[in-house]
Amino acid sequence: MGTKGRGIVQMDVGKLIGLLNKALADEWLAYYQYWVGAKVVRGPMKEAVIAELIQHAADELRHADMIANRVTQLGGTPLTDPRSWEQTANCAYLNPENPYVQAILEQGVEGERCAIEVYSRMLETTKDKDPVTYNMVLQILQDEVEHEEDFQALLEDIEDLIKRRG
Ligand code: MG
Ligand code: FE
Ligand code: FE
Repeated sequence: MGTKGRGIVQMDVGKLIGLLNKALADEWLAYYQYWVGAKVVRGPMKEAVIAELIQHAADELRHADMIANRVTQLGGTPLTDPRSWEQTANCAYLNPENPYVQAILEQGVEGERCAIEVYSRMLETTKDKDPVTYNMVLQILQDEVEHEEDFQALLEDIEDLIKRRG
């Protein structure tokens, strides 16, 4: 790992690696929640919901990749054991056991809101201390904000559809 690259970080690097690994666990859980959600979902506008879930799953996997690379860059080790994901994560895994579109989307909205809170906090923590992590977290946060809006908009469309059907 680059000595100078680590040297410009003006905060406890071990603590930073810990925060990044927690976010890594969140991303894997979110990835799986959406990936498996796309397999089981049913109800009105199912095809649109599946497309959104698949796209978001791909984004969460890309976030996991970005975070793991940053952990490695800082001289840490990305979480190696999936069994640690649930207890390490900031946000709960919301099991899509009810496959109805509205339930799946409500869980998605809840998950994205938790992610937005986590990354907003991380942005504050790294501000003026680690510009590289800050920039990465900002990119991820922009995606999570978009994800929340995507799920919320779909949920509203489905609710309208159901109302019009009476
Ligand atoms: Mg989307
Ligand atoms: Fe994410
Ligand atoms: Fe997301």
